Amino acid sequence: MLKASRRGRWPTLLRSGCATPTRRVHTAWRPGLSTLAIETSCDDTSVALLELQADNTSSSDHQKLRANVVYHERITANNTAYNGIHPLIALHSHQTSLGGLVADALARNHGAKPTFVSATRGPGMRSNLTVGLSLAKGLALAWGVPLLGVHHMQAHALTPRLCSTLESLPDLYQGPWQPATLQPSFPYLSVLASGGHTMLIKSTGLIDHQILATTNDIAIGDCVDKAARAILPPDAMKPPYGKALEDFAFPNGAADYEYTPPATRGEELTRRRTKWDWSLGVPLAERGRRMAFSFSGLLTSIERLMRQKTKTEPPEQVSISIEERRDLAHETLRVSFEHLASRILLYLEDTVGRSAEKSALDTANHIDTVVVSGGVASNRYLRHLLRAMLDARGYSHIQVAFPPPSLCTDNALMIAWAGMEMYTSGYQSTFDITPIRKWSMDQRDEDGGILGAEGWLHDGSLLPAVQKAEAITQS
Ligand code: AMP
Ligand code: ZN
Repeated sequence: MLKASRRGRWPTLLRSGCATPTRRVHTAWRPGLSTLAIETSCDDTSVALLELQADNTSSSDHQKLRANVVYHERITANNTAYNGIHPLIALHSHQTSLGGLVADALARNHGAKPTFVSATRGPGMRSNLTVGLSLAKGLALAWGVPLLGVHHMQAHALTPRLCSTLESLPDLYQGPWQPATLQPSFPYLSVLASGGHTMLIKSTGLIDHQILATTNDIAIGDCVDKAARAILPPDAMKPPYGKALEDFAFPNGAADYEYTPPATRGEELTRRRTKWDWSLGVPLAERGRRMAFSFSGLLTSIERLMRQKTKTEPPEQVSISIEERRDLAHETLRVSFEHLASRILLYLEDTVGRSAEKSALDTANHIDTVVVSGGVASNRYLRHLLRAMLDARGYSHIQVAFPPPSLCTDNALMIAWAGMEMYTSGYQSTFDITPIRKWSMDQRDEDGGILGAEGWLHDGSLLPAVQKAEAITQS
């Protein structure tokens, strides 16, 4: 929390139009609202310019709005020589790429300044976040516009609402546009399956995102990448390794799936022995209905199996055929994706009930959409498997949505969108905010979640701790 004596540091800014008492007028959804957004939390440097436009094709008396992507680019650090992300390579890439991307975005906007500037504040690598946040502060100060320090994970969770905005124009914008018309409407479930995260999140509001399950060890993308490096023959080994593993496991695409979903939880926990006389164990099978993910045990068994099969010297005596490698690739994906799906099913069984029991549901718990995002969500077999498992277990009424891959991986457009939703709900950041390496998105956690961080303004006032809770319930 900012000390009272420090509040005097902001009067010029507040008077210059950033946070006047009439801010409600400025923060409503309206055409012409725009944000320049910067993402530098990990190894992707990304810049976006997003604006809201009036839809002139509308014949209705009501104003229609459409979200328009003026600019969106991303440059990923070249980490191919390393087994993962090298912090210094990523930092260097941000430092060399960011200025050029911002210059391009401004040129596309004919030099016009945006309504406010958004940048990822955390969680992420502190030095990398500093590159983006510092430039964002500089631009906002020079332009005399507000700053919004965005929570990266909140931005992932809100991405499906951006997607519906971009996809289902113009019908979505009937009437004076309110965030309530955005789809999916709260509450919904999101699965974030990426190189750094594996999470099941329940989103019930803009700043209310409950983490239902997270990984106990490594992320699913990390597991898939490392399994791919162990399984793939040299000619199939190329990044992104998760995609290479999918292409190798299913050379003919869907025609190779041959997937039968487990009809019961008991069946789901049973190992499937292959004709090669090995099977992969189901993660956390012995932990009952515990809401968590785990992928390190699975990866260890895959690596051990491949070591056994390839330990003969010299390498030309490798005792694993392409066909067996292909079956291992297939099983790796099946077991990891069924594990992902199992926690969605556990949550739905415990809180939502099956289709037959739907009428008796508490509406606050009524979930009808599961959004899957993160780099792993671009896997087509995952899409097939998830749908098949939900159908087999009585959840055919639950929709499964996959944002386009370009919006699943880290990108500045999702930061722009989260910034836009926060700004139009009255939030801004003070100019003394600093990057946050670890920052929960769940207000139930010790750090208080998104609003638990220092430096939030709400409709022009510093948001004290007590009001944070009120703001959450009122929004
Ligand atoms: P992110 O961390 O969201 O940028 O996602 C990167 C992760 O997604 C890496 O682990 C990739 O290997 C993984 N990935 C990308 N495409 C696929 C795919 N088709 N199947 C499985 N994993 C994938
Ligand atoms: Zn991310």
